[in-house]
Amino acid sequence: MLAPIFTRQMAAVPVARGKAEHDMQFEITPNTAPLPEDQRIEAFKALGFGTLFTDHMAVVRWTEGKGWHSAQITARAPFALDPAASVLHYAQEIFEGMKAYRHEGGRVVLFRPEENARRFNESARRMAMPQLPEEVFLEAVDKLIAQDLKWVPEGEGSLYLRPFMFASEAFLGVRPAKEYIFCVIASPVGPYFKGGAKAVTIWTSQGYTRAAAGGTGAAKCGGNYAASLIAQAEAAAHGCDQVAFLDARENRWIEELGGMNVFFVFKDGSIITPPLQGTILPGITRKSLLQLAQDAGITITERLYSFDEWKADAASGNLAEAFACGTAAVVAGIGKVKHTGGEFLVGDGQTGPVTLRLREALVGLQRGQTNDPYGWVRPVELA
Ligand SMILES: *Cc1c(COP(=O)(O)O)cnc(C)c1O
Repeated sequence: MLAPIFTRQMAAVPVARGKAEHDMQFEITPNTAPLPEDQRIEAFKALGFGTLFTDHMAVVRWTEGKGWHSAQITARAPFALDPAASVLHYAQEIFEGMKAYRHEGGRVVLFRPEENARRFNESARRMAMPQLPEEVFLEAVDKLIAQDLKWVPEGEGSLYLRPFMFASEAFLGVRPAKEYIFCVIASPVGPYFKGGAKAVTIWTSQGYTRAAAGGTGAAKCGGNYAASLIAQAEAAAHGCDQVAFLDARENRWIEELGGMNVFFVFKDGSIITPPLQGTILPGITRKSLLQLAQDAGITITERLYSFDEWKADAASGNLAEAFACGTAAVVAGIGKVKHTGGEFLVGDGQTGPVTLRLREALVGLQRGQTNDPYGWVRPVELA
């Protein structure tokens, strides 16, 4: 039996938004041809993931010697990009993924957005890109949401936000670019789990790896995804939903999925998740679940776990559940694992009770259904 998730009485501490230290003002130019109301309402009836976009975007530019400038909220539109723009050749690009939720009563909130702002700068550092002041990142997100407020779905939907930065300088020499564009776009998305929490099937890639020591595995960059797509295609060809990557050195240790971190739940109720050693993306969902599990009295350990252990523990019944987690899917049970040598079930192949329990605890917080002792949920500034 697990202890209740929230036993401790902690005061809710809203994280105060520091007054912007930068002197940049976002210039707001409303879209003169927004999607008509009836069309938006129609589109909201069948929300998918990442196909529908709001009317506006946030854009801030960076130029060497000048720094960040020209902040605006403007109609969502294509960029004019020089064919020599370095992102198109050398892939200096990073991104973030976060969600805004509309609580009952109308309050619109973000979940731990400061963590995204901080991680964005860690990714920027690794990719030799300029640091974006965290308050500019947060202000761009807030101002875009405020402008597109009617696009934040109610109920189980949310507004997925995609902040990203890329090298826009027209130059073919190989060095960090001298011009960048930071942009935020937004996409209303539906519940990731339509018709309940069906467990996913995972393909374990033996031939392809995602990240090596000293590489970019811990940075949220487009290049990591480009490198993972062939393995994802291999997974799809084997009838799997997602691919799990093993470490590049020994092809032995489970690292993460293409875009989600992974957890293993044992018969005795304890949990293991692979440690952050530079090749794994430090997920905010991962970090939040670590905290929630710990506070629920669950023994949760960050340690290496091999594919052989996974197979053996699943066969012996020592492993009860496994799940993947990330902002988009939140928490997804792993029911079946396929590999070149065969396949095996995890537990009974369904999403397990500990997985469901943790997911409910996290979703309850994000949706304002349970109180937030951590101060993770932050109202969007609409003024
Ligand atoms: C974004 C991402 C995750 C999940 O991170 P969250 O902050 O939980 O959304 C995990 N792995 C990879 C490779 C990612 O890009």
